[in-house]
Amino acid sequence: MNHKEEFCSFCWRAKKDVILLVEGKDGFICDKCIHEAEKILQAEVGRNKRYQPLQKLLKPQEIKDFVDQYVIGQEKAKKVLSVAVYNHYKRIIAMDKTNPDDVEIEKSNILLVGETGTGKTLIARTIARILDVPFCIADATVITEAGYVGEDVETILTRLLQSANYVVEAAERGIVYIDEIDKISRKGDNPSITRDVSGEGVQQALLKLLEGSTVFVPPQGGRKHPEQNMVPINTQNILFICGGAFDGILPIIEKRMNAQPIGFKKPDGHVKHEKENLLQFISPADLKKFGLIPELIGRMPVIAHLNPLDKETLKLILTEPKNAILKQYQKLLELEGVKLEFDDEVIDYLADRAIDLKLGARGLRSIIESIMLDSMFEIPSATNEVKELKINKSMVMDKLQGYTIGHLRVAS
Ligand code: ADP
Repeated sequence: MNHKEEFCSFCWRAKKDVILLVEGKDGFICDKCIHEAEKILQAEVGRNKRYQPLQKLLKPQEIKDFVDQYVIGQEKAKKVLSVAVYNHYKRIIAMDKTNPDDVEIEKSNILLVGETGTGKTLIARTIARILDVPFCIADATVITEAGYVGEDVETILTRLLQSANYVVEAAERGIVYIDEIDKISRKGDNPSITRDVSGEGVQQALLKLLEGSTVFVPPQGGRKHPEQNMVPINTQNILFICGGAFDGILPIIEKRMNAQPIGFKKPDGHVKHEKENLLQFISPADLKKFGLIPELIGRMPVIAHLNPLDKETLKLILTEPKNAILKQYQKLLELEGVKLEFDDEVIDYLADRAIDLKLGARGLRSIIESIMLDSMFEIPSATNEVKELKINKSMVMDKLQGYTIGHLRVAS
């Protein structure tokens, strides 16, 4: 081969512009083109792979028992989801066995409403794991209408396809969790006259996925462009679980409920509802008032609420789940030959601080990470052999002096 001009025969990049140039009989291929070719190969192999239909479907109780090992509390939400997911896959199995023309299958997507860090994503992820179906998480706020800066709604399905190893039929029976669905509400519940890039348009785009249609998906993601080989994916049997905190919906629920008094009336004719429990009464009308379009609400017939996490629940979250955060640190240090223990007082204190942060259980992780940072840094290279590490309250208070997450500050 003549070495005076070495360049990739596929993209014409010169040797100096790439990491690696592999020589073939009549040319070269660079590392970038190898990567691209690998993706195309995966997509092609996936297209031709046989899909293994679900063999055995777990009963709702079995699904919940599994989720219980990871998710503390949220009994109602776990129950609602176990039943909804069971029904969803039962329909699919029935449809796989019969002539598709025989049965009219209406799918029931799910809406999870609850404060941040209360376990919405965790429940969805755990259920997908036990069912062994492809799963992906998408964030509604990065989606925009076609033609605007941001991601096309179809890229959500790209992720699902990747999680299904490009087996289209498997992706078509997967679960998609769409987070922050509340952030794409339109302002006010009147249809907008002008275009509303971040709100209504995105809801319309999502509707296309949720209602069950064939969507053309770019297998490598990114924006659609004419040369890309699109993969048609039918979303009819994909289960969409949408989640959101719906900050500001409580007054809407309260107003509606006080307007339609049920239950106990006070002497002044007002019905008082307990603030904390209001979310359990959430209705499609409230969601509409909040700014979701009726068509989208109609595509999420199952609504479940998650409770705010109280102190006792937060304490359990620290210690009980199979992969509880304290257990994870204990395991990590055990690998270094160190026995890690936390005083009971510490657990109590951490739960209180997490409540201050108002980030649900997510706050726990951030706090513990900052407490453990120094030890995790020092122990692996400690010269005197550390065998035991006992964390007590004063150590924790010391570490959390002036600790902030964003603009939130932990009180001591
Ligand atoms: P969100 O409701 O915002 O989707 P996540 O499910 O992502 O919250 O929760 C964030 C993290 O907090 C999880 O990864 C998990 O470690 C912990 N967590 C939240 N809620 C629970 C819960 N009910 N039980 C156990 N862990 C939880």
